Amino acid sequence: MNNDNRTYCSIVIFGATGDLANRKLFPSIYSLYKKGKLNENFSVIGVARRELDNEAFRNNVRTSIQESKIELVDNVETFLSHFHYVSFDVTDKQHYQDLNMLLHDLEGQFNIPGNRMFYMAMAPEFFGTIASYLKSEGVTNDQGWNRLIIEKPFGHDLPSAQKLNNDIREAFQEDEIYRIDHYLGKAMVQNIEVIRFANAIFEPLWNNRYISNIQITSSESLGVEDRGGYYDQAGALRDMVQNHMLQMVSLLAMEPPISLTTEEIRSEKIKVLRAIKRMTVDEVDQYFVRGQYDEGNIYGKDVPAYRSENKVDPQSNTETFVAGKLSINNFRWAGVPIYIRTGKRMTEKSTKVVIQFKELPMNLYYKSEDNMHPNLLIIHIQPDEGISIVLNGKKLNIPGETTPVKLDYCNNCLDESNNPEAYEKLLYDAILGDSTNFTHWDEVALSWQFVDTIYKAWENNKVSDFPNYRSGTMGPKVADDLLAEDGFHWWPILDDSDYSI
Ligand code: NAP
Repeated sequence: MNNDNRTYCSIVIFGATGDLANRKLFPSIYSLYKKGKLNENFSVIGVARRELDNEAFRNNVRTSIQESKIELVDNVETFLSHFHYVSFDVTDKQHYQDLNMLLHDLEGQFNIPGNRMFYMAMAPEFFGTIASYLKSEGVTNDQGWNRLIIEKPFGHDLPSAQKLNNDIREAFQEDEIYRIDHYLGKAMVQNIEVIRFANAIFEPLWNNRYISNIQITSSESLGVEDRGGYYDQAGALRDMVQNHMLQMVSLLAMEPPISLTTEEIRSEKIKVLRAIKRMTVDEVDQYFVRGQYDEGNIYGKDVPAYRSENKVDPQSNTETFVAGKLSINNFRWAGVPIYIRTGKRMTEKSTKVVIQFKELPMNLYYKSEDNMHPNLLIIHIQPDEGISIVLNGKKLNIPGETTPVKLDYCNNCLDESNNPEAYEKLLYDAILGDSTNFTHWDEVALSWQFVDTIYKAWENNKVSDFPNYRSGTMGPKVADDLLAEDGFHWWPILDDSDYSI
């Protein structure tokens, strides 16, 4: 059992009957408890409008854990006794006093020194209101720490993000705000820094002298499912690029920090976001392309077009796919394109980074373009986690001929049960007060600034060819053209792929 009193805290979950709380948060809290990272000095208070008593709430929590992959053990009833529920509308400030009283009671009961974590697992329009009532009604406590965990989307453009930030900053200091980007909790995203800064064979090559291009793909095979209402307003650029994709770019491109502290790592990531070459609205089409899925077939099943999905406008111009070319204007990266692509209803669910190295200045085995294979470093982020290196080896029995050889390291092949989910890791970090893997306001603002220009261009210039890719494919042809213009192509995302040209 962990006796680390930094974990003594109350966790208030706003939106405790919702999808995120049930699918991610309850199983994560249980997993921390089961591993002994949370001891008995904690409480969880669920808040939502529907009427539930503690018993019904605990049953929901138990069901959500059962539905996750985590096995229930004997102490589950003790664990559930830490969960309490209060029903209220978060826009009604009267009820915050009741919440405060319950917090005080539970702090006494579980010997918690006033540390309070507020988790906003609700629609973003409520974030500002909740923060301001927590402050005005005295729920933020001066006895211990107060922390606010806030979910994406953080605004829908720079002005709305700025307003939301101002609202929550009325009640919480920047260092009390934990903006979740769950990609930053993924094992292999966290591993990017280790691969880069703990391996003598990579860091010397990590620059424009040896790397020809970097490709980041985050593809989903699912469509919008039941999130059509939200997604049709957001689109792939807001949903994926502004946060997850740009965060991965900053980790891949940052300079080595002088130490592994939150401030030093953030400061290097922010420099990358500042160095990304800005486009004018007129230049956007040279660097970014968009797509929307048509009907098609995935894993043998026919699926509808985006415009026929539930709660989606049948004339919708929303992009379900984005590909782009980024340039980082600094000494290390000038001249190295970083290509990103992300979309729904693509061939496979996969997030991967491919680093393509330059050819040797003179290769003795060169015969033609066809027999040369660049070296690749592939970082597999999800669902498989690991790294692969593609080298050239001798073709058996054929003198003077080479063939690509792939070396694989799989991070989650041996024991998946020990591999904590991103939410579990991030929740634990926030409880311990480590905000390294959360996004700072400066990162959010710089990302919106970059993405807003693309939206401005796209708003002025509606597409006429949507839908432009079939479900079950890797996106529209324009995304391939983007690389072909530079003499490159997308590397395949499937694990058993042949990495020949
Ligand atoms: P959801 O399933 O729609 O849940 C919303 C929750 O808010 C419900 O518990 C609802 O319960 C409660 N609620 C709504 N209005 C309320 C009010 N006025 N007062 C008190 N409670 C209220 O949403 P979700 O999918 O869990 O998403 C929550 C947040 O996480 C959103 O910001 C979303 O963008 C973000 N997010 C979700 C996921 C995911 O996988 N689900 C992933 C990434 C980010 P009642 O109806 O009982 O009030």
